[in-house]
Amino acid sequence: MTEAPGQKVNYLGYTQEMWLELLSELGEKPFHATQIMKWIHHRKVDDFTAMTDISKKLRQYLMATGELAEPEVSHEFVSKDGTRKWLIRSASGSLFETVFIPEDNRGTLCVSSQVGCKLDCSFCSTGKQGYNSDLTTAEIVGQLRIAMRRLAEAYPDRRRTVTNVVMMGMGEPLLNIEHVLPAVTLMMDDLGYGISKRKVTISTAGVVPGIEKLCESTDVSLAISLHAPNNPLRDQLVPINRKYPIELLLDVCTRYARNLGEKRTVTVEYTLIDGVNDSREHALELSRLLKDFPCKINLIPFNPFPGTDYKRPSMNAVRGFQDRLVNDGYSVTVRTTRGDDIQAACGQLVGQVADRTRRQERYQRIQAGQIA
Ligand code: SAH
Repeated sequence: MTEAPGQKVNYLGYTQEMWLELLSELGEKPFHATQIMKWIHHRKVDDFTAMTDISKKLRQYLMATGELAEPEVSHEFVSKDGTRKWLIRSASGSLFETVFIPEDNRGTLCVSSQVGCKLDCSFCSTGKQGYNSDLTTAEIVGQLRIAMRRLAEAYPDRRRTVTNVVMMGMGEPLLNIEHVLPAVTLMMDDLGYGISKRKVTISTAGVVPGIEKLCESTDVSLAISLHAPNNPLRDQLVPINRKYPIELLLDVCTRYARNLGEKRTVTVEYTLIDGVNDSREHALELSRLLKDFPCKINLIPFNPFPGTDYKRPSMNAVRGFQDRLVNDGYSVTVRTTRGDDIQAACGQLVGQVADRTRRQERYQRIQAGQIA
């Protein structure tokens, strides 16, 4: 449990396993877990009194000990391409972001795991905000609940809904695995949100101990943010590489791939930055590196943000990089930029982080030219 003693439990973050444990402690029948979860996640009630098929005694217990509190939406932005971004208030008061990206035959929700990020990848604007806090399970799964509710209101014909979830919003999911794992479990549970395990993806900058934990407990889809084909370059772009270098990362991912079974593979994300990691040599080196690693590659043209010197490569350069890998037999997709008019593209999410690390201040001073 994450709540301090005496504080109300937010039952929105309870998995089926947690309900079964609680009901057994209370001497109640296990089938109530099914009823309660359907009320919370399918019918989306916010009040225990609405749960008319469970006993008054159990309802009263739940009311006395807990609540069903969805985090509060502070603002909704709608892009001209249909992308939606919600600015959401966390318990700490800081704001974080969730993005919905509609496509012809699917809708992807990009979910945050932390307010800010402890890592400081050089090309990511979330990192520049510093870090404030980890989101709770209810705040993580709450983002999906909010999106589904709001999309159902905006599109009564159900034309748009969430079919895929990617943990690619603000934060590093595997540095908050304690809350991310139960949240994705709820997303995949039929009594929760019923999204297939193929369509829920945890993306990590390479927190090796976190992937080791995933090996023991789940088969959710996994993406790794590689961004460089060798350690010296990756050390600069993704500083956590100095702690967990590429060999260690690919090794633990190979182990995790066993959880995925025959037909599923780990996704390798590679943000292409002009003149930094996008040359023909980089493509060849990447191809050699991944030779024995079963994966799909997802190329992300860099999304600029205020204060960065990095640039997006031309579409020709992106296609050239893709072609080289495709020639070597890799399956390679290029992520299209969506929602950049509302600052909702990859790496552009900043929220409003009351930074506890002083990193935000340092970057602001660099931007203002006060320090080199
Ligand atoms: N911490 C997780 C989730 C982060 S965001 C991770 O590192 O995987 C999801 C993806 O967007 C990551 O691959 C991240 O490296 C990439 N990204 C971050 N900033 C970007 C930018 N400015 N342009 C393009 N991609 C970016």
